[in-house]
Amino acid sequence: MKQLSPRQIHLDFHTSEKIPDVAQNFSAEEFARQMKEAHVSSVTVFARCHHGWLYYPSKKFPELVHPALKNKNLLIDQVKSLHKVGIRAPIYITVQWDYQSANKHPEWLIRKRDGSHEGPAFTEAGFYQSLCVNTGYKDFLMAQTAEICEILGDELDGIFFDIVGTRPCLCSACRAEMKREGLDLCDDVQVRNFAARVMDRFKSEMTSLVRKFSTDCTVFYNAGHVGPCTKKSKDAYSHFELESLPSGSWGYLHFPVTARYARTLGKDCLGMTGKFHTDWGDFHSLKNQAALEFECFRMLSYGFASSIGDQLEPGGILNPATYRLIGSVYKQFEEREEWARPSIPMTEALLLTSEPDNVESKIPESVMGAAQLFEELALQFDISDKNCDFGKYKLLIIPEDFRGDAEFSDKVNEYVSNGGKVLAFGKGGLTADNCYPECFGVKYEGKIEKYPDFIVADGELSSGLEIGNEYVIYLQGEQVSPITAEPVLYARAPYFRRDGDYFCSHKYTPSAKGASYPVAFMSKGVVFFSHHILTQYRKNAPYWCKKLVSNAVKMLLGEQMITHNGPSTLSVSVLSQPEKGRVNLHLLSYIPVRKSATIDIIEERTVVRNVKIKLNLDKKFTKARLVPENTILNYEDGEVEIPEVNGYAIVELS
Ligand SMILES: [Zn+2]
Repeated sequence: MKQLSPRQIHLDFHTSEKIPDVAQNFSAEEFARQMKEAHVSSVTVFARCHHGWLYYPSKKFPELVHPALKNKNLLIDQVKSLHKVGIRAPIYITVQWDYQSANKHPEWLIRKRDGSHEGPAFTEAGFYQSLCVNTGYKDFLMAQTAEICEILGDELDGIFFDIVGTRPCLCSACRAEMKREGLDLCDDVQVRNFAARVMDRFKSEMTSLVRKFSTDCTVFYNAGHVGPCTKKSKDAYSHFELESLPSGSWGYLHFPVTARYARTLGKDCLGMTGKFHTDWGDFHSLKNQAALEFECFRMLSYGFASSIGDQLEPGGILNPATYRLIGSVYKQFEEREEWARPSIPMTEALLLTSEPDNVESKIPESVMGAAQLFEELALQFDISDKNCDFGKYKLLIIPEDFRGDAEFSDKVNEYVSNGGKVLAFGKGGLTADNCYPECFGVKYEGKIEKYPDFIVADGELSSGLEIGNEYVIYLQGEQVSPITAEPVLYARAPYFRRDGDYFCSHKYTPSAKGASYPVAFMSKGVVFFSHHILTQYRKNAPYWCKKLVSNAVKMLLGEQMITHNGPSTLSVSVLSQPEKGRVNLHLLSYIPVRKSATIDIIEERTVVRNVKIKLNLDKKFTKARLVPENTILNYEDGEVEIPEVNGYAIVELS
């Protein structure tokens, strides 16, 4: 796998023409020196921005060179000065957002069903009127891309194409092609799938064009998300950049979900965050250092490279405080990256996702809940779809919304008969004709009509809960009866379902203390919950739901690869470096706090002391030390003891 440059900056430069003297104060030497001092190894610099302006002396499109740009050679000077100090400089080109093109070429705009364009009206601020790459705009994009490739020649390191998403379009070009294909233009699904195909074709053609100029430069298409929507066109990418600014619309859970999916696609990945307190374009803000540490170190804990988003101010000078901040994080990153890159994540479980492949950022709530829950349990897991090779994993997790079919049932049955374990929920694995895979040993009977209902803690599955206590499951579950499986958990119904004249108190009707019925089942290699436990955890994270799942994992796997006595906020990931004869545990202790109405804040590291990690690895190691500090750790009977984790710690086992 070709490795990315490890410590990157994504240097936005969307700059209004109404600002005078753009890049007037830019100094190529100073620019490169600041980057070098901040331990940066690659900077993505701008050829064309969302305003639609070019930052190099274009011969093909002189009218698009930024009219207020003082240094017409800005981009070229940036690239050459960075190369002089050994820093890479891939090129940024905007795709679907380009204000100049949107204004001058209404025929290139994406059209909604009612004929209107996307984004705000042209009388409002913003450049979000999206363009269609199935129009003459594609020819323009190709010509402009070819021009910058030619100008840079051997100095072309890569291209980052931005805003390349699946956006249904009914412009005249798309309508004509859909009609030729016999598609129903009134069917939103057909229109969306067509848009996805158009975009995949565009990526494939664009990569072929770039490859005429460079066989090994990086090529990436950004849609703000990497997931099943990326998989079909993955050959067009050299690598994946996981844009995920936790203080933007993404939140802190988006990155681990996409990272666990993207790392199964067989290409190197980087995580992308920002130096901003909030989101892109937040010029005069600095992220708290602890937050930036957590975000970058978390990327490293997945074995990924890092990219920090910044925006160059119009005058062309990098903000010194920003690069002191970035330098303080990237220095630590650099000292630790040899224990993460390259590496192979060691995983024991596969979480299936029903995320659609024709729309970005529709991560199912079940998967969000599962990611949170299993990270708390330190389970080592990947996320993928039903086409994945289940045999690589000891445990297969089928969320409640992951519907199956006959082929899927066969695959699951075979997996279990070969010794694989399955943890399934709700309608997970259920076919359209309401059959679960045979190995579940249960029969579908419809929805539980009286809900919320109440599990009664009892037996091994309830270990750690108050035995005999009733615990509510708020979401409506499925009614399931055993065929060959053994019930391992029961529930009781409320007096009645809260509806119309039937209500009691503020919330839901309490337990009628009547007969109980089974709601979790065990058969050989399978634990099945009829409730939507993962979605429930996403909704309000009941501790009892986590405990039930944790016990189920234990009943299925015995010992997990990793268990620890630390808090649930401590994350642990396991990276193998077989060529160096070692396995590294990456421990992170930073706690995002909902301090504001809109975003989570990390202000400081959280120190955790006397962490004991129990290891259940196939390979046995004899030595454990903290790196890069080289502190030898107490390591006996497969248990390693870490006196203190101050934010981030790496334990090397050799
Ligand atoms: Zn179109």
